[in-house]
Amino acid sequence: MGQSDIAVMGLAVMGENLILNMASKGFTVTAYNRSTDKVKAFVEGRAKGQSIVGAYSLQELVDSLKRPRKIMLMIKAGSAVDASIESLLPYLEAGDIIIDGGNSHPADSDRRTAYLKEKGILFIGTGVSGGEEGALKGPSIMPGGNSEAWEHVRPIFQGIAAKVADGTPCCDWVGENGAGHFVKMVHNGIEYGDMQMIAEAYSILRGVAGLSNAEIAQIFSEWNTGELDSFLIEITADILTKKDEETGKDLVDVILDSAGQKGTGKWTSVYALDVGSPSSTIAEAVFARCISALKNERVQASKLFTGPQAAFQGDKQEFIEKVRKALFASKICSYAQGYQLMRLTAKEQGWTLNYGSIALMWRGGCIIRAQFLGDIKNAFDKNPELANLLLDEYFANIIQEYQQPWREVVAQAILSGVWVPAFSSAISYFDGYRSEIVSANIIQAQRDYFGAHTYERLDKPRGEFFHTNWTGRG
Ligand code: NAP
Repeated sequence: MGQSDIAVMGLAVMGENLILNMASKGFTVTAYNRSTDKVKAFVEGRAKGQSIVGAYSLQELVDSLKRPRKIMLMIKAGSAVDASIESLLPYLEAGDIIIDGGNSHPADSDRRTAYLKEKGILFIGTGVSGGEEGALKGPSIMPGGNSEAWEHVRPIFQGIAAKVADGTPCCDWVGENGAGHFVKMVHNGIEYGDMQMIAEAYSILRGVAGLSNAEIAQIFSEWNTGELDSFLIEITADILTKKDEETGKDLVDVILDSAGQKGTGKWTSVYALDVGSPSSTIAEAVFARCISALKNERVQASKLFTGPQAAFQGDKQEFIEKVRKALFASKICSYAQGYQLMRLTAKEQGWTLNYGSIALMWRGGCIIRAQFLGDIKNAFDKNPELANLLLDEYFANIIQEYQQPWREVVAQAILSGVWVPAFSSAISYFDGYRSEIVSANIIQAQRDYFGAHTYERLDKPRGEFFHTNWTGRG
């Protein structure tokens, strides 16, 4: 029998770093890659002198492992994962465990869990967040799939995961089938929202208040010591101070304003549409990247339309503080949407998600790590059935206090012609969610008028439907 605790297939940046992390925590790891020249380079290079064994064939890989065998795929998501699972099956026996740690679509993990269960193989589909540095030093890990596998991998996953201040690992069992990849996907959707909102705060400070990159970097550094304390604010402050070696200009000013995307923000938005969850700020962040990508058309349109020339009037320090409050209030709404999406999807899928534990998993190691995830955990600890973060007393008080400056900032940005899709969608979400009466009575009347779709009445019990002959014609 072999001696390795786990094998990792895929020696690109994530796989290599996870292996080094596992070895540093005392585990013996087998390293394998489809192109085996990478195995040689790794074991003779970065892995040298550590408890890492190279495998040059699948037979060698399975022979190197303790039972039940644990094989983690860290490869390109999609058909490569299915092909690798198929190639492994002839070598495995009942009870062995295949783990997919890539950014797979949750529905693929649903399918793979069921498919492998039929063959007696336990499957884990797990989100791994934190990029290459996280993989090496402690990522956030969100495992789901076949729960029988969890006890076998728990020591390794919790051993290598990031830890919060009291030592609790940022890794816990999420739920059956695709639940782990689903939670990772929502994490990425929230990340899209966070990044867009920080970019908008930057645009407002620059476009409305006329501040320089250096001044904004300083402001972000200050914000990072308070409620907005987070990895993304911290790195944005850093980014704004970086000079371009070629031109000597601020590097951000020479980076093309056209954002790429790999799809997890879009998946989150599609899930939201499918379950009817209003994740408008997250979706708006995805659409914002789409608008950014239309660079040539934007250049053309910019020559056709002139925006307002509103010069900033007022106290800059006061305005900066209002922008901070607007960013925090928008961020709370975006997270409220992410949690709402998890609740509605969990209900549909029959998952029991622990929302406090998810906040804790995101508290360290991952890209959206932030101080305020501790407050989200507290909210769900107080009330595990909390329908919406905005209904928690702590967050409700902040929103109530910040809503006036938030409105002023969004209004000022629009008056100044500064593009703020996520800020304005967040405040619209808040205004919709907090309104006892919204304009959907008009929608229902229109639907009944042209399509006899019927409507319910405020003065009659729910579930009784009415139709009106709006035109009086027969
Ligand atoms: P990657 O660039 O996504 O994938 C490269 C790896 O996939 C190589 O080992 C490659 O093997 C292997 N591969 C590709 N097609 C294959 C196939 N048909 N059969 C077997 N192996 C195949 O690597 P990565 O950036 O390290 O990411 C790994 C996974 O983690 C991905 O799903 C990614 O989305 C996810 N992820 C990445 C990050 C990040 O910051 N990079 C963060 C979180 C999650 P060869 O060398 O033989 O081509």
